[in-house]
Amino acid sequence: MRGRERLKALARRSVRLRLGDVGGGDRVLNNWRSITAVLVLLFGWVPLGLSSETPVLVEIPSKALAPGDLLQVRLHSRSPIGRVECSFIEQKVRFYPLGDGSRWEALAGVDLESKPGLHSLTGTVWLSDGRSKPIRKSLRVVPKEFPTQRIRVRQKFVTLNPRDSERAAREHRELTEIWQSATDRRLWTDPFIRPVSSRLTSGFGRRRIVNGEPRSPHSGVDLKATTGTPIRAANSGRVLLAKDLFYAGQTIILDHGLGLYTVYAHCSKMHAKPGDHVEQGEIIGEVGATGRVTGPHLHWGCRVNGARVNPLDLTTLMAAPDAGP
Ligand SMILES: [Zn+2]
Repeated sequence: MRGRERLKALARRSVRLRLGDVGGGDRVLNNWRSITAVLVLLFGWVPLGLSSETPVLVEIPSKALAPGDLLQVRLHSRSPIGRVECSFIEQKVRFYPLGDGSRWEALAGVDLESKPGLHSLTGTVWLSDGRSKPIRKSLRVVPKEFPTQRIRVRQKFVTLNPRDSERAAREHRELTEIWQSATDRRLWTDPFIRPVSSRLTSGFGRRRIVNGEPRSPHSGVDLKATTGTPIRAANSGRVLLAKDLFYAGQTIILDHGLGLYTVYAHCSKMHAKPGDHVEQGEIIGEVGATGRVTGPHLHWGCRVNGARVNPLDLTTLMAAPDAGP
């Protein structure tokens, strides 16, 4: 990159770092952060006197956020970080260290039905030397229009008999418990892969009219494939559930740790069983048409700390390899 273009890019980056920071008292500090960030990028140094007292930098490389978006949050510190507590839209955000511990990262999600507006990511960072630093970043969630989709399925999936109704409610409770749980350790390594390589038939977030009645929005993406097509684990993790569910049919849920789950629904066959550890790319099942479907496909979903987010974000957001453990 030529010198002038490089400077322009750095200036844009500095503006990005400032965007979203709020609070009058913080403004001077935030300007310092931006200036420091530019100086670090330009010359690889930090102004004297700032090294020990510089606040922990919060970086969110995402564009403007909308419901259903996955976001990556990065912390940069001059001193190694020992522990982080953080929350965002009523979710606990779980950070993990990279490299020497001065850089930490986390995934967070804006749920598919989150209200647009200003939301705060707030928390505390404990440095290894015992000092604590508050962190705060405001993020604007912009409204997003999702297309409406009308589908026709067997009527038993729309007008439930008492037995199916009780079953669907029980399975809903079971899934809710899963989304609220988290394994302490990160089990995935970047990047994620698509579980089947095929075209998308139904996009994420579509508002659904099923047999003429409004139903929950589409919480995943549908990947078209013929029955029997192998489904591959999008990343390494532990099989948390492999079970026939009323709506989702034969469904596999992989726990990737730190509150991140991927869901594979409507399988014709499941090759993985609960408790198994799977590697990225390992065949866990086969595409099918079980549960509430219009034809064979893989419904692929993603939850992060309970939020329903677009699983395709996993394959784009974390495309670059990291230096993590
Ligand atoms: Zn689907």
